[in-house]
Amino acid sequence: MSFDFDSLIRAVADFPKPGVTFRDVTPLLADAGGFARCIDAMAEPWQGSEVQAVCGIESRGFIFGAALAQKLHAGFVPLRKPGKLPPPLVEVDYALEYGTDRLQARNDALRPGERTLIVDDVLATGGTLAAARELAGKLGASLVGASVLIELDALGGRSRWPQGVPLQALLHY
Ligand code: 5GP
Repeated sequence: MSFDFDSLIRAVADFPKPGVTFRDVTPLLADAGGFARCIDAMAEPWQGSEVQAVCGIESRGFIFGAALAQKLHAGFVPLRKPGKLPPPLVEVDYALEYGTDRLQARNDALRPGERTLIVDDVLATGGTLAAARELAGKLGASLVGASVLIELDALGGRSRWPQGVPLQALLHY
């Protein structure tokens, strides 16, 4: 029988603004068995893909990404929000609904051609994952794919991801 991850994802109405349902993953993280099974299930499609580096997106992508890196026997590279890392840096700006944001990594964070998996908690409109992909490309990654815990299907973020590159989501809302 498959595990009931849904019961450990809290739907919070009208957060961070009216009309938006926020998917809170902290109950899943707090559940020892649930978190372990979630990492097992997220790792499963990538076994045998020879992932060498997991790039996790700040901040919840660090939690899932670091655990996945351990499971896949890969290194972990944090893709950070601005102002956190010392230079020399590589960076990508991307559009938010209001304004812009930026992801940064050290310019030597990946070895050329390193087989890389990008990880985040939630795929919504896809802007964050697209920026992470661009940044991984600038770092010289050989992109294996992306893994998210949750895909918000109605927001269509998948359309911003290249069709030929695997994108795995464990849960869909
Ligand atoms: P996107 O760029 O795809 O629109 O948004 C994805 C980013 O926003 C992810 O880094 C994710 O952490 C955050 N995010 C957007 N919606 C949610 C949500 O409902 N729950 C959580 N936990 N994060 C979200």
